[in-house]
Amino acid sequence: MIPAAPTPLQQDEPRRWQALWRDAVRDPRQLLAMLGLDTLADGLSEAAVDQFPLRVPRGFVARMRHDDPLDPLLRQVLPVLDEERIVPGFALDAVGDTAARSGHGVIRKYNGRALLIATGSCAVNCRYCFRRHYPYAEDTAAVGGWREAVAGIAADPSVHEVILSGGDPLSLADHKLAELTDALRGIPHIRRLRIHSRLPIVLPERVDAGLLAWLRSLPWPLAVVVHANHANEFDASVDAALAALRDAGATLLNQAVLLRGVNDSVEALADLCERGHAAGVLPYYLHQLDRVAGAAHFEIDDGTALALHAALSARLPGYLVPRLVREIPGQPGKTLLALAQGGMPVTG
Ligand SMILES: *Cc1c(COP(=O)(O)O)cnc(C)c1O
Ligand code: SF4
Repeated sequence: MIPAAPTPLQQDEPRRWQALWRDAVRDPRQLLAMLGLDTLADGLSEAAVDQFPLRVPRGFVARMRHDDPLDPLLRQVLPVLDEERIVPGFALDAVGDTAARSGHGVIRKYNGRALLIATGSCAVNCRYCFRRHYPYAEDTAAVGGWREAVAGIAADPSVHEVILSGGDPLSLADHKLAELTDALRGIPHIRRLRIHSRLPIVLPERVDAGLLAWLRSLPWPLAVVVHANHANEFDASVDAALAALRDAGATLLNQAVLLRGVNDSVEALADLCERGHAAGVLPYYLHQLDRVAGAAHFEIDDGTALALHAALSARLPGYLVPRLVREIPGQPGKTLLALAQGGMPVTG
C-alpha cells in the first residue's frame, strides 16, 4: 500500500495570529470590565461605536493598567462622548487622500515614492485615525492581483520606493504579500521597500515564521515603520517580534502621533523614544494629529507641540528625537513644524 503523502501546509490554513486577530475585544463594556473600570460605561458613546467600532487585540489589552481610567493605551481605543463634538476644521477627508490617488489604491503625492493602500483592515481601531471615515473597503491596491498598482509603478521610472500602507498591510496573508513582491521583482528602478504597520506592536504574533521567510526572500533593502505612541505599548512579546524583524534585515523606525492625554509630556515622549531604541527602533516622525472629525479631543496646538519637541531635543541625543511634522493636503511630503522669528509657530 502506498502511504498517503504528508499534507502540505495549505496557503490559507488559519494561523495563530489570525485566530488572535478574530478574537479581538469588540465590546466596549467588556473592555471596561476586563480593566475593572465598569463605572466608565456612562462615558461611552454609542454613536461613536456605530460610526467606528471598538476593536482591540487581547494582548494589547493586557498591557493596559488595571483600574486606571487615564491609561494611555485605553485612551487610544475607547469610544468616548468627546467624539460626538462637532468641531470646525475637523473633517472627513483630513489628509486629502481622495485627491492624491492615481488609480486603484495608489497614492502618488510623495516624490519618488508610490504608496499602496494594500488593505483597509487593521487589528486595532485607533480613535484618532483618519481611517475611521475611510475604511477603504474595496478600493485597495490588492484588488485584481495588484495588477494596476504594479503596472503604474513599472511604467514610471521615477518611483524608487514602494511603500505598503493601509489600513495595515501586514493584515494580508503572506501569499498575498508575496504575490505583490513577486510582481515587483522584475522592475529595475525599485530601490527599496517600506512597510508601515502597527501589527508588530498590537499583535506581535503576526511576526511569525511565514512572514519572516517572506521578508528574507525580498531583493530590496527593507524598512519597517511601526506605529507606537507610548512606551507601555512595548513588552517582551513586542521586543521579540522587533528583534526578529531586524534579524530578517529590516531597518526599524517609529512613527507616533502626538495625542492629548496619551503622550503629551516630555517624560512620555522621552520614554517612548528610549523604550523604542531599547527594542531596536529609531524614532522617525512625531505627527501632529490629522484633523479628522471625532478626534478633536486629542489635539495639541502647534505652540505646545513645538515646546514639547524643543524640550525633548534638549533632553535626548539627536538620533532619538523624531521629526515633528504635519500632513497638509496638497503638499508633496510632510511639512516640518518650526518656529518663525518672534517665536510664532509656522508650517512650511
Ligand atoms: C508620511 C507617510 C509616508 C510617506 O512619507 P515619508 O516622508 O516618505 O515618510 C508613508 N506612509 C505613511 C503612513 C505616512 O504617514
Ligand atoms: S491605520 Fe494605523 S492608526 Fe489607523 S486604525 Fe489602523 S493601526 Fe490604527
